[in-house]
Amino acid sequence: KAPTNPVVVINAHDLPYLNSKLPIKKRVDDLLARMTTAEKVGQMTQAERNALRSRSDIASYALGSLLSGGGSVPTPNTPAAWAAMIDNFQLNAQATRLQIPLIYGVDAVHGHNNVVGATILPHNIAIGATRDPSLAQKAGQVTATEVRATGIPWDFAPCVCVVRDDRWGRAYEGFGEDPALVQSMATVITGLQGKADGSQLKQNNHVLATAKHFVGDGGTTYGSSTTGSYKIDQGITQVTRQQLETLHLAPFKTAVDLGVGTVMPSYSSMSIDGAPPVKMHGDGELINGVLKQRMGFDGFVISDWQAIDQLPGDYASDIRTSINAGLDMIMVPTNYQGFTQGLTDEIAAGRIPMTRIDDAVRRILTEKFKLGLFERPYADTSNIASIGSAAHRAVGREAAAKSQVLLKNDGNLLPLNAGQKVYVAGSNANDLGNQMGGWSITWQGGSGATTTGTTILDGIKQVVPTATFSADASAPLEGHDVGVVVVGERPYAEGIGDVGNGHDLQLTAADKAAVDKVCGAMKCVVLIVSGRPQVIADQLGKINAVVASWLPGTEGAGVADVLFGKVPFSGRLPVSWPRTEDQQPLNVGDASYDPQYPFGWGLSTQAAARQALTDARNSLLRKHDAYAVAAGVAASIALGVKDWSGPQATIALAAAAQSAKLLERTKADTFAEDDAVVGIARWIAQNHIGQNLNEPASKLVSDADHALLSGQLSTATTKLIAASKLP
Ligand code: BGC
Repeated sequence: KAPTNPVVVINAHDLPYLNSKLPIKKRVDDLLARMTTAEKVGQMTQAERNALRSRSDIASYALGSLLSGGGSVPTPNTPAAWAAMIDNFQLNAQATRLQIPLIYGVDAVHGHNNVVGATILPHNIAIGATRDPSLAQKAGQVTATEVRATGIPWDFAPCVCVVRDDRWGRAYEGFGEDPALVQSMATVITGLQGKADGSQLKQNNHVLATAKHFVGDGGTTYGSSTTGSYKIDQGITQVTRQQLETLHLAPFKTAVDLGVGTVMPSYSSMSIDGAPPVKMHGDGELINGVLKQRMGFDGFVISDWQAIDQLPGDYASDIRTSINAGLDMIMVPTNYQGFTQGLTDEIAAGRIPMTRIDDAVRRILTEKFKLGLFERPYADTSNIASIGSAAHRAVGREAAAKSQVLLKNDGNLLPLNAGQKVYVAGSNANDLGNQMGGWSITWQGGSGATTTGTTILDGIKQVVPTATFSADASAPLEGHDVGVVVVGERPYAEGIGDVGNGHDLQLTAADKAAVDKVCGAMKCVVLIVSGRPQVIADQLGKINAVVASWLPGTEGAGVADVLFGKVPFSGRLPVSWPRTEDQQPLNVGDASYDPQYPFGWGLSTQAAARQALTDARNSLLRKHDAYAVAAGVAASIALGVKDWSGPQATIALAAAAQSAKLLERTKADTFAEDDAVVGIARWIAQNHIGQNLNEPASKLVSDADHALLSGQLSTATTKLIAASKLP
């Protein structure tokens, strides 16, 4: 029978490793010295909970870990059932000689996404669009709290992949195409784990994180990989040594510095400087050499699902190659009998040194001690009420709102207002499953109301209860002010994505028809709910406003928040938005870089811009000409500029500088409130740092931004004027 209350294991044997007052290193030394080879082999084995022939195998094979693969859920799929299930497994581990607790792992890649009723956050691509590291950290905290409340101490997340090809079916699991952006979002690790020294891991609102997939998973070359549906997933990453370092390894260094507890290698192979490709699960140079030795990673390396089976040679060779390359625990996940036997044989034959085994087990035990599992192996369910709570959903809603990227906004159609007669259509307007994407309740995700939350339509109706919804776009079009057409992808996980459903970075025929119909009849905004950019070049001309909505999760109301101006649009593209689907890989710096919208693009409906416009009008009415010009110019820049990638950026800067100068002259005027222009100048500065500007200009803009932050308007003005004069 499962314990109903958290049980603290009593140190009945008075053994040092059970003494929580001793330093972890001493406890590990003591425990390791007591372990048999079979017990060590067991610690290095992770089985899938569904694959257990019987629960007693946990003790028979001295298993160190279990996982739920995506969608491997208890019945009923409730938080309490999860906690009871894991407690039950833990009871079997407690029946072993040394009572080493299991470490249970799940893929909670956007909230506790396997559990009905949990808060499902926007996928990482959306988090990348927010450009908000503190929000990423908050998302990690929400996930950790909900996951740990069900007795699970380990999360196979985040994916710190750098997405170099949108055709990759896992593009949405990454934060974007730029390593610096991915690095800045690695704060999610801090949210999951707490402090980098691991001292908060034992708390009931933290879990061990996994940086995955090491390394280059987002950089596989289209067409060069395995066949079938995994065409560009699990392929070959062909890079120069320099690209490997700056593009793909950099985020792992950040993850290690943040104290990430585990790292998962990639299914893909790595080819450096044209050398023959090496499967990452057997790449000792990168796992032992770079990750563990050079970066100083001291957690443990967990293989991907059955991934060692893909190594060349027989199973014994797969085991030997992977463990000697530095893997510490193998996600078997079904054949734990064969694996434990094989590993035992390899050790006995001297083909894997005992020092390597001891190192692996030491790493695993260290994390288990840090998690406090020896003291508290059973679920601490005191936070169970937080699962899907209003407070957690508020974080999901905030993230959904801040991730919306306004690609186009002709005539300032957005924000909409509650008085408008709104016509809503499109396949993703009222589908919770579609807006959550893959890794949602099931591995692949699925359409429909698979859990609780608000669809985008629900969110719109909260503002405009009378909005018309046309599921098939056949409702009469007349009498509406504006159409909202929500299109995009159906859920998928891994592989190549939604291609099998009829398109590859292309909208379906039904979605295209809905756009044609609605946008042909009224002003319209198109929301694209998808895990990656969709090519919209051929229809763009007939659409007034376009929003990249990504996969916003269970809180569709967040999308409505920006649509209706409750929250200003502030999201920026985490990946370049291509004009054609074969325009891949598409990355800033390429000679042929010519996307529909560049990396970093995102218009704004910021309140400051609207305020500036209002100020300009008021000033004109009161004949405060200089200020009117200043505010008007600033507002039109903020609201009207379409292309920040070219010479317009320079013109905009000059205009902003001019506005600031004019404002300086009207300083004596009591009416001259500088807030609006300061707001605009900051907006311009923020939107330009690091992009499209040459280095001296970015530096000046950055200085101006800092000056504005501390209220030094004249310094900022000088800097902006200087920036605008640069070639
Ligand atoms: C995925 C991993 C995941 C693992 C366990 C694999 O198929 O590649 O990202 O952590 O399954 O579910």
